[in-house]
Amino acid sequence: MAFENLSTRIQTALSGLRRKGKITQDDVNEATREIRLALLEADVNFKVVKDFVSAVKTRALGQEVMGSLTPGQQIIKIVDEELTKMMGETAVGLNKSPHIPTIIMMVGLQGTGKTTTAGKLANHLMKTEHARPLLIAADIYRPAAVDQLKVIGEQLSVPVYDEGTSATAETIVTNGLQVAEQNKNDYVIIDTAGRLEIDEQLMTELKNVKQIAHPDNILLVIDAMTGQVATQVAEGFDQSLDVTGVVLTKLDGDTRGGAALSIRAVTGKPIIFTGKGEKLTDLDNFYPDRMANRILGMGDMLSLIEKAQSDYDQEQAEKVAMKMRENTFDFNDFIDQMEQVEKMGPMDEIMKMIPGMANNPALANVSIGEKDIAHLKAIVYSMTPAEREDPDLLNPSRRRRIAAGSGRNVQEVNRMIKQFKQSKEMMQKMSKGNFGDMNQLMGG
Ligand code: GDP
Repeated sequence: MAFENLSTRIQTALSGLRRKGKITQDDVNEATREIRLALLEADVNFKVVKDFVSAVKTRALGQEVMGSLTPGQQIIKIVDEELTKMMGETAVGLNKSPHIPTIIMMVGLQGTGKTTTAGKLANHLMKTEHARPLLIAADIYRPAAVDQLKVIGEQLSVPVYDEGTSATAETIVTNGLQVAEQNKNDYVIIDTAGRLEIDEQLMTELKNVKQIAHPDNILLVIDAMTGQVATQVAEGFDQSLDVTGVVLTKLDGDTRGGAALSIRAVTGKPIIFTGKGEKLTDLDNFYPDRMANRILGMGDMLSLIEKAQSDYDQEQAEKVAMKMRENTFDFNDFIDQMEQVEKMGPMDEIMKMIPGMANNPALANVSIGEKDIAHLKAIVYSMTPAEREDPDLLNPSRRRRIAAGSGRNVQEVNRMIKQFKQSKEMMQKMSKGNFGDMNQLMGG
């Protein structure tokens, strides 16, 4: 995952300060020097690093720290605030047109993820606003792009307007907008052509499309893996087109994260979304404060809660809440829950969003993989319906039968039943508003 290295290094630099009762100028110098190196190595723009370090230093040596009872904590707070500021302070959303449709034009170099992101965006708008978007396929130079967008459209049941690759982008966009008007689509998302690098011809075409479509949003798609070059590309596109925001893709890759940290400061344009996978659901709103918290290992509870809300079946959640209140949560529900959790993504990624967990050494070896979940399911499926509803029936002989039926050993069956009982107990407490155990779990 992006930022891993940067995150570890900054946290190491700060860990020495955390518990100190008194902090000297040397301590501050040393910590900021380490942070400076970590940022440069993560490919953050040189000038951005310089401004950041100077801001942190000035504040760290000022009254708010030196006069404080917990100077180490204060410095961490300052680093957190300055990192947040570097990425834009507050979250920025899409511009909305006062009348339909709101028009979004995707631009960017080839291979950055424009076409995929156009699809992700359509999906996001449908999910969050029950929108009825129309996609326009105006990337006529990469023949596969039109087909790719059509496939995405089919997957999402979103209409795609295309004229193959023989018409000009300008014609396709003009006609596509008319179709959107007839069909009263509330959003139009235009996929445009990219090149391997910025050139005159591409910019002229994009400027023409801009003039025809009057987009409310021009989203520049940037591949986070490209490092330093990303900011130059962003400046190039911005000068010609005056982009309104950035989508940073491929944050799931092994990127050093510099682009995410520099784009806002260098171009003044906000990152609006991030992409972190190839699936059409892998798009997130960008929150500078949450990203800063994550880099500093302070977890990302809000994103986790949001993720749970969007991936979680609401009806199912209400059913479980009721079962917990009535204390009738059984193995059938347990399996349903497992399936919900599976949908949220890899467990270790989810755990990292919990404060205190990101750097928890205990987590280093934890992996709850698909295989483990499959084993748990096999055990539950070997129970009779009566046993699933009433775990108290599970005496030793029944446990042996279940072990044989599921191909797991008895110890594993015992462990799973014990875990089930423990989680049931914990959920009971939580549903009564008692978070004591939970806090303990998070190192609070
Ligand atoms: P375009 O040329 O800009 O339209 O780029 P595409 O949408 O065709 O994307 C290029 C490749 O990047 C495809 O293989 C996508 O699946 C992949 N891709 C796009 N966004 C992401 C992302 O956020 N994470 C990862 N891992 N891959 C992505």
